[in-house]
Amino acid sequence: MKKKISPKRLIGGVLFTVAFVIFAYVSCSVAVHSSDTRNYEITDHGKNSLYGYDRDRYLINHGRADEASSAKVSAAYTEPAAVQDEEPAPAAETPVPTPEPTPEPTVDPNSPAARAAALGLPAPPEIDITEWQYLLVNAAHPLEPVDYAPQEMAYLNMTGDETDIQTAHNDYRCAVDLRIAQALVDFTQGCKAAGLPVYLSSGYRSYSEQQYLFNRKVGQGYSEEVAKTIVAYPGTSEHQTGLCCDITDYYRETKDSSLAQTATYQWLCEHCTEYGFVVRYPEDKSGSADSITGIIYEPWHFRYVGVEAAKYMTENNLCLEEFTELYI
Ligand SMILES: [Zn+2]
Repeated sequence: MKKKISPKRLIGGVLFTVAFVIFAYVSCSVAVHSSDTRNYEITDHGKNSLYGYDRDRYLINHGRADEASSAKVSAAYTEPAAVQDEEPAPAAETPVPTPEPTPEPTVDPNSPAARAAALGLPAPPEIDITEWQYLLVNAAHPLEPVDYAPQEMAYLNMTGDETDIQTAHNDYRCAVDLRIAQALVDFTQGCKAAGLPVYLSSGYRSYSEQQYLFNRKVGQGYSEEVAKTIVAYPGTSEHQTGLCCDITDYYRETKDSSLAQTATYQWLCEHCTEYGFVVRYPEDKSGSADSITGIIYEPWHFRYVGVEAAKYMTENNLCLEEFTELYI
């Protein structure tokens, strides 16, 4: 039998159902709203607008531009990035024209500079080696003619007490080629100014004087070969050129190797290049007929070659034979 439902219970049930449905709808709506908000604040770094405003614009306006992640918005609202010191992007490859090869400067292998370079020496002075002050005279290079004599002579006070340059023959003075006279006066005056005694022992010697000295040396018992290393053979002596001078201590005229110990020689040796002179027969280039100069060590024999050559020769330890070899 079918049980009848009373009208009161039916109305009550309908009202309850309607009330439940309304409640359920409102609850669900609030839950969705709360969830979206929470997600936005914690995790959403998206670029879309929520609830009608642009998030990136919001972040930028509130000093949080670094959180804005939209490339579009960043480009629109952030300052341009500072220029970095980065390699510029490689330009499109364009063909680089090959430069014409620069021709190597032509170096004459026989030039003085090339010869000096081959010996590890700096370029020598640009000079005319045939000029008078570079005249090389030794056993292999005799004077031409053998009785050569300077055209103009000068006669100098031997102790440097007088500085005048006389041109009239005077056996009581030191004779030299007139062209070196002033340099030699200045050289000896420099030595005297340093407080050192100086003596012009021997300058120009004629061919006949040289012959006399050589014969005397042979007469003392030396063989000709040995005598040539002590007194140059006539016609091969530098003294015959008048371009050199034996300079000693006034109080110690003996010419032997011990002269090198005197203060006078040491001053002369140290300063000779300033006046255009060199120690012509240095110890390491001389000593025997087989040595480069072929003459004994003579720490008294100074040769004029001019300041430029004297400095180059001395700084590079070249004797006149080696120096002229660079040019010939
Ligand atoms: Zn000498």
